[in-house]
Amino acid sequence: MQTIDLRSDTVTRPTPGMREAMMTAPVGDDVFGDDPTVNALQDKIASMLGFEAALFVPTGTQSNLCGILAHCQRGDEYIVGQMAHTYRWEGGGAAVLGSVQPQPLAHAADGSLPLADIEAAIKPDDAHFAKTRLLALENTIGGKLLPFDYVQAATKLAKSKGLATHLDGARLFNAAVAQAGQDKAQAAPADGALREAHRIAQCFDSVSVCFSKGLGAPVGSALCGSKDLLAKAHRLRKMTGGGMRQAGFLAAAALYALDHHVARLADDHALAKRLAAAFEKIDGASVDPVHSNIVFVDLNGPAKAKAAGLLAHLKQHGILATGLYRMRFVTHLDVDAAAVDRAIEVIERYFKS
Ligand SMILES: *Cc1c(COP(=O)(O)O)cnc(C)c1O
Repeated sequence: MQTIDLRSDTVTRPTPGMREAMMTAPVGDDVFGDDPTVNALQDKIASMLGFEAALFVPTGTQSNLCGILAHCQRGDEYIVGQMAHTYRWEGGGAAVLGSVQPQPLAHAADGSLPLADIEAAIKPDDAHFAKTRLLALENTIGGKLLPFDYVQAATKLAKSKGLATHLDGARLFNAAVAQAGQDKAQAAPADGALREAHRIAQCFDSVSVCFSKGLGAPVGSALCGSKDLLAKAHRLRKMTGGGMRQAGFLAAAALYALDHHVARLADDHALAKRLAAAFEKIDGASVDPVHSNIVFVDLNGPAKAKAAGLLAHLKQHGILATGLYRMRFVTHLDVDAAAVDRAIEVIERYFKS
């Protein structure tokens, strides 16, 4: 029995085409700036998203950390969501390593941070306060696409108050594909996604993108921004141990993913919707609106009694999911329609039994 791993889109294994691209990549020592494949990747992602420069880093956590610390000094603060990765899920790195204070805000139901709350959180220039320097948003956030009008308004507000803006776009391409999908007239989905990724990214001074999530590369993220910002981030990457040598083997996977795995994210989104629809039929299940590849489910009422046993039951049938906060199912490159249908069958039988 093949395992169906719905814990995260980080579990994907490189495809044969990706492995081939990795094995044949020309490489050099990237700490000397000599790795042609790393350089090609950095040029490609910077130009795709409309920035002067990009830096290849091992993880999204390091990318966000280098971004925040490049924008902020000791004693500065960044405004961020309570559930944002850059606040909640990165070990407090900006505070621990950079003496940068987070100012977390509660999210609205759609994942956004209300504009009035952002404005109220910006501190006056007064010796009592940390200096508010940066607004950090995340898109997608908990699988939700931030409305583009909101992204524009929030970043415009931040800039009007002298703040820099950073996007944790770990799943920027999922956001872009979801946003392109809202435009029904879209003729070529791949072009639409690239255009939307560029449009979202250009609202920000810096953007972090993960290649190791839905894009299916084994390792790697990129931080994009101006040359000046990236020069600071480059020093921070070295300082935090992220200077890699023949990293072109990894960059080749990311390049391959950008060429082959962007448009197909729409398949993951469709399968996530199919899974969500199956849960919606279960009495007592409440399912978050699905915009991308992540399904969150709460089980209440008649379903509550069975909720506790669901993950263990799924595991017995070779299906993996997580329930750290709420039950979460993530679709990705290594989960096809047949796998999702098998998961649905097991779930439906469990709730009927
Ligand atoms: C996965 C993720 C990151 C970075 O994670 P790493 O495991 O460090 O690569 C950052 N932000 C979000 C929203 C993520 O989902």
